[in-house]
Amino acid sequence: MDKEERAFYEKLEGKGVSRRDFMKFCTFLTATMGLSSSFIPKVAEVFAAPAQRTPVIWLHFGECTGCTEAAIRAMYPWIDQLVLEVLDVEYQETIMAAAGHQAEEQLHNAVEKYKGKFICVVEGAIATKFNGGYGKVAGKTFLQTAKEVCSKAAGVICIGQCSSYGNIQAAKPNPGGYKGVGAALGIKTVNIAGCPPNPINFVGTIVNYLLLGKLPALDDIGRPLFAYGQTIHDNCPRRGHFESGEFVEVFGSKEAAEGYCLFKVGCRGPETYNNCSIVKFNGGTSWPVQAGHPCIGCSQPDFWDKFTPFYQEL
Ligand code: SF4
Ligand code: SF4
Repeated sequence: MDKEERAFYEKLEGKGVSRRDFMKFCTFLTATMGLSSSFIPKVAEVFAAPAQRTPVIWLHFGECTGCTEAAIRAMYPWIDQLVLEVLDVEYQETIMAAAGHQAEEQLHNAVEKYKGKFICVVEGAIATKFNGGYGKVAGKTFLQTAKEVCSKAAGVICIGQCSSYGNIQAAKPNPGGYKGVGAALGIKTVNIAGCPPNPINFVGTIVNYLLLGKLPALDDIGRPLFAYGQTIHDNCPRRGHFESGEFVEVFGSKEAAEGYCLFKVGCRGPETYNNCSIVKFNGGTSWPVQAGHPCIGCSQPDFWDKFTPFYQEL
């Protein structure tokens, strides 16, 4: 172990995180990314001895900031800091100290300085009707800012359902013509879908890039296959009850507590691609179907219009 790695583990211990806990996290992350266990030490190295810090510009458009909250707070309480340390976050409105003109200047300078080299992370949908007039920050429309910044990025990662496919902003009647970033700008994006997305899928995408020098393989709507290659239903622990026809008819019933299938109370698991049942939320504590709530299809395009009313069998 070199000096840098030793300092890294001492710092972790200072936060009350043992090396064993950290390696457990790296094992979990490696498995989530679909890599063999031989990659675990390499994944650990990405955090412990990063070769270089990748510049990131993180834009916020029409959204609730839940994705930032999910990414930086809700998982392992210490992983947010590790991720922020392997990345060089040049602009992020929620966590940066600068405000107003100072913040605008920081965005402009970072885009020019790292032109063609930075990753643009986008959170939020973009208004496209009336020249984008339904969404503005600092006198510029989301559409203008997105065009200026994304066109100069090495790659664009959409975090969450809003930037991926428009989400609730794009639900009918959608007067502002809100769309996801790819559709609004006519570009290819990596879409970490979900409302909110699971932070591990964002971290896995970033680590894949740092480790292998490329973004992960995607499905035909831009979602990383390691996370969105199978449906919720494929890996649901209630699946045996689906097959034997044992359904929950009423919320809060004895059947729900016993883990019967939620299809009749609206579960969209059979049509929804995501890995919630495998990686779960909040450090692997639970996930909606485990807690007795049907999957509402939050990582599928148009899920508000296509899947509502949520609690009725399709
Ligand atoms: S609860 Fe949903 S995901 Fe699970 S088996 Fe039933 S329909 Fe499939
Ligand atoms: S279970 Fe379904 S609705 Fe819930 S977070 Fe996962 S994909 Fe979204």
